[in-house]
Amino acid sequence: MPQQKYVIDKLISAKSIAARIEELSHEIEREYAGTQKLVVVGLLRGSFIFIADLVRELDLPVEVDFVETSSYGNSMESSREVRILKDLRGDIERRDVLVVEDIVDTGHTLSHVLHLLGSRRPHNLRTIALLDKPSRREADIRADWIGFEIPDAFVVGYGIDYAQRDRNLPYIGKVRFTDD
Ligand code: 5GP
Repeated sequence: MPQQKYVIDKLISAKSIAARIEELSHEIEREYAGTQKLVVVGLLRGSFIFIADLVRELDLPVEVDFVETSSYGNSMESSREVRILKDLRGDIERRDVLVVEDIVDTGHTLSHVLHLLGSRRPHNLRTIALLDKPSRREADIRADWIGFEIPDAFVVGYGIDYAQRDRNLPYIGKVRFTDD
């Protein structure tokens, strides 16, 4: 449980998210037109709603797999040390792999995962992130597709948590601490 009281200010509405996912899905369909080999890999747990909505918009044959990395725990600070808690179930050799991330913040998580998956000889490896905080970047990395660029704020909702809460909000909101 978070220690301090907070309120959530809406940043991106459910409607805007749905509209952006529809746009992105068209771009992705064009990029992978004709492939029978696409594996969409969600990074747990924050991307679970995004990947669910994204794959339902994709008019392509897709397989879905997941990787889980160590997260912030209950803290709001990012960590440079990334550990794999759950690996893929399937083999990605010669497959088209699209990694789905909720937020690229410092970039260490995505960079670590791409390094790992890249070593398994996929046919190609691309990335999509719902949110990007470019001002926070430490690793030299950018997702191939980005839903929304956001400022340096701590956000929740649409799969993204604060101390395991608020994942079920249908929109993205910014956490603001209150005194009482
Ligand atoms: P990075 O390794 O890029 O610093 O961090 C990526 C991960 O940190 C994201 O997948 C997400 O789980 C977490 N993260 C980054 N920014 C936020 C944020 O504003 N709110 C929450 N809840 N998690 C975040």
